[in-house]
Amino acid sequence: MATLDLKHLLKIFGSEVRAVDGIDLNIRHGELISLLGPSGCGKTTTLRLVAGFIDPDGGAIEVEGEVISSPGAIVPPERRNMSMIFQSYAVWPHKTVYQNVAYGLKFRDVTIQESDQKVRKMLDIVQMGHLGERYPGELSGGQQQRVALARALVVEPSILLLDEPLSNLDANLREEMRFEIRRLHDEFHITSIYVTHDQSEAMVTSDRICLMNHGKIEQVGTAMEIYDNPETRFVAEFVGVTNSIEGSSPSPGLFDTGGDLKFKVGSNGAAGAEGKHFVSIRPHRIGIHPEGAPIDGAEGQNILVGEVTRGYFLGNSADYLVKVPGLEEPLRVEGDPSRFFPAGTKVRLAIEPDSVIPVRASEG
Ligand code: ATP
Repeated sequence: MATLDLKHLLKIFGSEVRAVDGIDLNIRHGELISLLGPSGCGKTTTLRLVAGFIDPDGGAIEVEGEVISSPGAIVPPERRNMSMIFQSYAVWPHKTVYQNVAYGLKFRDVTIQESDQKVRKMLDIVQMGHLGERYPGELSGGQQQRVALARALVVEPSILLLDEPLSNLDANLREEMRFEIRRLHDEFHITSIYVTHDQSEAMVTSDRICLMNHGKIEQVGTAMEIYDNPETRFVAEFVGVTNSIEGSSPSPGLFDTGGDLKFKVGSNGAAGAEGKHFVSIRPHRIGIHPEGAPIDGAEGQNILVGEVTRGYFLGNSADYLVKVPGLEEPLRVEGDPSRFFPAGTKVRLAIEPDSVIPVRASEG
C-alpha cells in the first residue's frame, strides 16, 4: 500500500495537445480511485505517466512523498513496484495459466516452493485454481482477465493500475467482473487507479471517482457525492441523466431563468449558488401530477405547469418529456409507471428546492 500524489501534472503532445493539463490528485493508502471521463479527456495518459511509460512535461508524481516522476527526475517503470492490467489482457499465449502467473515472481527473491504456494493461492483467489494447466487460447475473455489479475496481484505491488480492464468483455461478464474487482480490492487494499469511461463501472468499483474533461479534473468524490452534488454542468450531465437550465442567482435561495420562471433553491445548493449559471435537476426528483389534482406540501415546492410531449412506459418507470412555458427545452421527468400520462396530458410538476442544484459552467 502507498499514497500517491499527482502535483500540477502536465503532459503536452506536440505543440498544443494538453492531454493532462496541470492536475492535482491525492490517492490515499489502500484507496481505489477511478479516472472517469469521455474519450480523449486524458485518463490513459495520466495512467501511463504514473506507470512510467511516458514522462511528464511539468509537475510531479510522488509515492509516499518521494518523487518518482518529474521533468529531469524519472524512476524507471520496473523500479516503481506497480502492476498494470490492460484492456487486451496481455497474457502470454504460449505459457499456461500457472506459468503466466508465476512469471512475475521469477525476478523476485522467492524460492521455488514459495513461488508455487503464492501462485496456487492467487489462482484460487481469482477462482482459476482448476485451470492452471490451460493455455490462454483455451480460456474465455473473463477467465483471461482473471489470469491477468492474478499475475498483477501475485507480485504484491504497492500500486495497481487498471486500464479499461473490462471493455473487451460482453455486458453480463463485465457486470460480474466489476464486483470481482471490488472483492479483490477489499481483500488486498492495494492503492489503485482504474481508468474507465463507464460510469456504472466506476460507481461499483471505486472508493472515489475523479471526473476528467479536456485534460483537467472537474470533480473528485464518492459516487453519491458526484451524483447528488455535481459541481459543474459537465459532471451533472456525464453521470446519470439530468435537466440543465441556464440562468443566474440574484439572491440566496433563488435561481432566475431570465424569463417568468424562478426556482427556489435549497440550502444545499444556495450555499454555493453565486457564480453558478446553471441548475441541474434529476428527472426522478420531479413529481408529475395531473392538472387540478392536489399536491402534498405544494407551498414549499417549485410548482410548474406543463404538457407531456412524449411519454414512454418502461415497466419499472415512465419516462416523459414535458414542455414547460418559459423553458426553452422540455424537461425530462421520470415518473411512477402505475400512473401513466400519455402525450398531450396537461400536468403539474413539483420539485423540492433541495433537488435544484446550482452548478458552474465547465472550463472545457
Ligand atoms: P480513451 O477513453 O479514448 O482512451 P483517454 O481519456 O484515455 O481516451 P488519452 O488517451 O489520455 O485519452 O488522450 C488524451 C489526448 O491526448 C487526446 O486528445 C489524444 O488524442 C492525445 N494523445 C494521446 N496520446 C498521444 C500521442 N502519443 N501523441 C499525440 N497525442 C496523443
